[in-house]
Amino acid sequence: MRALIIEPSPTYQRILSRMLESYDFDITFVDTATAGFRAMNAHHFQFVCVAMYLADLTGIEFCQQVRADEQARHLPIFIVTSESNPELLSSALAAGATDIIRKDDLPRLEEALHSLIPLGPFRYNISGKALYLEDSLTIAKATDAKLKRLGLSMDHAFSITEALELLQHNKYELIMTDIVLQDNETGIDFIRQLRSESRFQQTPILAVTSLESINRRILALQSGANDYISKPVLDEELFARINNLVSANRLVDQLTRERQRLLELATKDHLTGLYNRHFMGEVAKRRFAEARKHQLPLSLLVIDIDHFKQVNDQHGHHIGDKVLKRIADALRQQFAEHDCIARFGGEEFVVLLHQQDLTMATDKALQLCQLLHQLQPEGIETSVSIGVTSLSSAREEFFDEVFARADKALYQAKQNGRNQVVTV
Ligand code: GH3
Ligand code: MG
Ligand code: MG
Ligand code: MG
Repeated sequence: MRALIIEPSPTYQRILSRMLESYDFDITFVDTATAGFRAMNAHHFQFVCVAMYLADLTGIEFCQQVRADEQARHLPIFIVTSESNPELLSSALAAGATDIIRKDDLPRLEEALHSLIPLGPFRYNISGKALYLEDSLTIAKATDAKLKRLGLSMDHAFSITEALELLQHNKYELIMTDIVLQDNETGIDFIRQLRSESRFQQTPILAVTSLESINRRILALQSGANDYISKPVLDEELFARINNLVSANRLVDQLTRERQRLLELATKDHLTGLYNRHFMGEVAKRRFAEARKHQLPLSLLVIDIDHFKQVNDQHGHHIGDKVLKRIADALRQQFAEHDCIARFGGEEFVVLLHQQDLTMATDKALQLCQLLHQLQPEGIETSVSIGVTSLSSAREEFFDEVFARADKALYQAKQNGRNQVVTV
């Protein structure tokens, strides 16, 4: 994008140049109107800043001459001046100046630019889809064009039903809603419906309200809108609010994912995705207390792969890992969601059987033992030995003690020739 600055004072040239630095404009500086016209013949400019007093013309005369050319009718021209004489200023506007920027109020130039120059990706970096519930097609279409400039595509719904239908099939970065809709519907109802569903708890909602209705704005926020914007909507305000909402939501997403990842690292075994020994200890503490308190049965299986060292020795560690994963998958399939399964050591697994007594646990273990013997992961014949025990109902027992008992039973199963279950 190109900007032309016609300014005889090097000081002001420098100030303007610094002010526009962040916008990526390719700026041409000249110090007379004649040089300005020459530059305009050679290039297309997005806007022109012209000083009021130049060696050859005044800024006002410059404007008049530019506007005489049909093609330059819409070119934004800002006259930069230290004058505050109202007559002079009104004649500048009459001559076709877009705005007058006083030298003691230069930041106004930035504001004026924001409403004129199409935004580039260097300012807002968002993408994806927005949903707009709006009963006026005209407003919806105008908003669609604006959102495109921001990098968002927009789906439009006339009614709450239509909006909910679109929400069934699409993922939106942002939901915008008008407040007063047709058929006595309101955006407030819509916002409440969305917030009552867990999958829309976090989606950013922007309410679009009329300027005068303060109560509605408050109600929109109380119902769960993240922000509001007043009609008539100012582009820059709309862009800034949307950008804030969408970026903040992305940050929350990112933090949630990060937190999830850390939680997995802390509780899961990296190779198999089963819980790790540490986490099993935590779960066991709670389950043991709960079982004692409510007099519920609780059982424990300790499962160890037979002669696993030979699998590594004969087929390599890599295949050994695959066998471990396959056996872990089989365990996941065999047990219910609330039976906590952990990889306790290298080729040893522990299952905490929720509300199951010793008989039920032994049956489960026998089934599992048979199934794993038939599994032949990676085409390798494998088997497991299993020790089974239950929490005593007669006296208070803790996890370590119960685990030690099951581990002893496992040792017995190994002694007895492996591929079997021993219950104690
Ligand atoms: P037993 O029937 O007495 O249990 O014999 P075993 O060979 O299974 O028992 P041992 O304790 O002698 O060997 C366990 C082997 O498990 C040794 C070790 O290399 C292997 N192992 C432990 N963790 C892993 C792992 O993460 N990946 C692989 N591939 N092997 C593992
Ligand atoms: Mg409306
Ligand atoms: Mg083993
Ligand atoms: Mg072992």
